[in-house]
Amino acid sequence: MQKNSEKNRLIRLSKSVLSEIEKDAVKKVLDEGYLGMGTNVKIFENNLSVLLKRNVVTVVNGTAALHLALQSCGIGKDDEVLVQSITYLASFQAISASGANPIPCDINLDTFTIDIEDARKRLTSKTKAIMPVHYGGELGNYKQIYDFAKEYGLRVIEDAAHAFGTVRNNQIVGSFGDIVCFSFDGIKNITSGEGGCIVSDDENVLSYARDARLLGVKNDTEKRFQSKRSWEFEVVNQGWRYHMSDIMAAIGIVQLSRLEEFSIKRRNIAKIYDYKFKQNKFITTLSRNYDEVLPHIYPVILSKKIQRKDFQKYLLSKNIQTGIHYQPNHLLKLYKKQNFNFLKNTESIYKNIISLPLHPEITSDDINYIVKVIEEFTNNL
Ligand SMILES: *Cc1c(COP(=O)(O)O)cnc(C)c1O
Repeated sequence: MQKNSEKNRLIRLSKSVLSEIEKDAVKKVLDEGYLGMGTNVKIFENNLSVLLKRNVVTVVNGTAALHLALQSCGIGKDDEVLVQSITYLASFQAISASGANPIPCDINLDTFTIDIEDARKRLTSKTKAIMPVHYGGELGNYKQIYDFAKEYGLRVIEDAAHAFGTVRNNQIVGSFGDIVCFSFDGIKNITSGEGGCIVSDDENVLSYARDARLLGVKNDTEKRFQSKRSWEFEVVNQGWRYHMSDIMAAIGIVQLSRLEEFSIKRRNIAKIYDYKFKQNKFITTLSRNYDEVLPHIYPVILSKKIQRKDFQKYLLSKNIQTGIHYQPNHLLKLYKKQNFNFLKNTESIYKNIISLPLHPEITSDDINYIVKVIEEFTNNL
């Protein structure tokens, strides 16, 4: 076994974990010669539906899922959508793509999920929806979010890109809630290369999305599932080329069957990190219950005594990659104009967050090494 003291290979922040089974599945699609949206997409949707116990519409990526979900429930020009500022740019871009304005909200510092008391202050007559981001796989104050939405008649579009496989009260995320959107991009909890899906009980939303992912062509989905197409058709709504291909679905089907394997590994890694950092007063971990949360990322808060740039540089010099999830969106030029208020928690913390390597191929040897390198750094402060 390799010594802990030095690593001669980079420990990556995140990565896709693929086996021969995914490769064989893709080869089969290539051999068959139909690469578009067909039987594999149908099977992937069915398998997702069995797990999530509701109907599923797959799309080309998670951003498209959010965009279509918004459009499918009639959110558009001049509407406002409440969303935490600390999220991937995709949440904001999906909202602005729909024509609506993302309204940046603050976060709770223990979980990095939306602070409902802050969101309440940002309500206007134009507010139509709230987009809770399940940051790192954590649902935050889920009941409070839904109570708030009910009180003001808002749609809830969950950005569950990080939360595939998370459970709450023994129920898997996606099996409950108004509209839930997942991403299957290369580094998410499961991948289909790129990809995403929308899950809901609202058949109106799902059937709108089914058409809108195929340029708005009415009922084209059923035809494609039979390897047919619509040559004469009707279009009522603006649509997009947002459907998934059979190559992607073939990868997704295999990855979905490996969810349990990935879950055990991801949860275990996060638990070990949590345990190891208990003794380091320069590192604050988030409060998450890994019996429920399936962690997509492992962010920690660095003490103000640490210059993040130096910390990242030091770790990289030791072959450890780190990331920042995320720089706040309300500070970007495109969204700055909507920055009516100072986001207290967000601005107090965003320069001190950093994410450590988390993916199913991280070994306990890797974790020991990472923790030791961080201790070397903090011991010299
Ligand atoms: C990955 C991600 C998305 C978008 O998913 P893509 O598949 O990359 O388009 C949206 N929101 C969050 C929080 C994400 O991490």
